[in-house]
Amino acid sequence: MSSFCKGLSSENSQSEYQMKDRFLDNFNTDSPPVGENIWYLCTVCDTAISSMSVRSIACSCYNLIIDVDAHRFSVKDESNFRVFVKS
Ligand SMILES: [Zn+2]
Repeated sequence: MSSFCKGLSSENSQSEYQMKDRFLDNFNTDSPPVGENIWYLCTVCDTAISSMSVRSIACSCYNLIIDVDAHRFSVKDESNFRVFVKS
């Protein structure tokens, strides 16, 4: 784990998505859509994080990392990254 990750809080919320939520299929992984109802889901640890997070955050396994200070979003394993719209 890098020193960067140590300073991050990881989100241990229960799965926040529901069956009625809509998954997006076509998006650019480098710059995924951002919006009030748009969430990012890591399918490795089943953690959802808000695309509008106001603090730096990572999923439990650090596959998805939002670095607010650097205005950066990074994904380690794109095959385990999904975007959904909360309904
Ligand atoms: Zn994860």
